[in-house]
Amino acid sequence: MFILVLYDCQGVSGEILGFKTMKTVRFRTQVDPDVRYSPDQFRDEVTIYLNDPNGWAQWHVFEYAPSGPAKVIRLASKRTLKAEGCKEDELSCAILGGTDIWLNVERWTRGAPKSKLPLEEYRQYMVSHEMGHSLGYEHAKCPGSGPVPVMVQQTLGIGACTPNTKVTEIDLHSK
Ligand SMILES: [Zn+2]
Repeated sequence: MFILVLYDCQGVSGEILGFKTMKTVRFRTQVDPDVRYSPDQFRDEVTIYLNDPNGWAQWHVFEYAPSGPAKVIRLASKRTLKAEGCKEDELSCAILGGTDIWLNVERWTRGAPKSKLPLEEYRQYMVSHEMGHSLGYEHAKCPGSGPVPVMVQQTLGIGACTPNTKVTEIDLHSK
């Protein structure tokens, strides 16, 4: 489903108003049976992170859909990550351009010091990074300075870049 949204209403006078297309992405969340965490809290947190105005919500409308969603975001244990075929059980995982996203519960609760992000911002990064994969975006690299793109594997380090949770221009070119 596509919704036309008016933008740039305050553009330079005389400019024709522009339109951008917002794509609706239906999703639901799930806390796996072997994970102890409130399902309602997880749903609420993920919903907030997906709707971050600096994230993918600039181009997508994320709509909670308990049945038949396009994306299923699971809070998962290491064991599940392994069983589902994720390459690295210390990280999170998503199918490129697919439905399933697994957020690693250990990272969700402890964060990642090498990202240099406080826990809540790291969670924002986790959701944006894995949703990025699910939307078809691949890994990006730190450009050498400036804010680190969200499609960088920030959990492993951000190089000479500065901590960041906003989707950057580099992210948009990582498809
Ligand atoms: Zn990744």
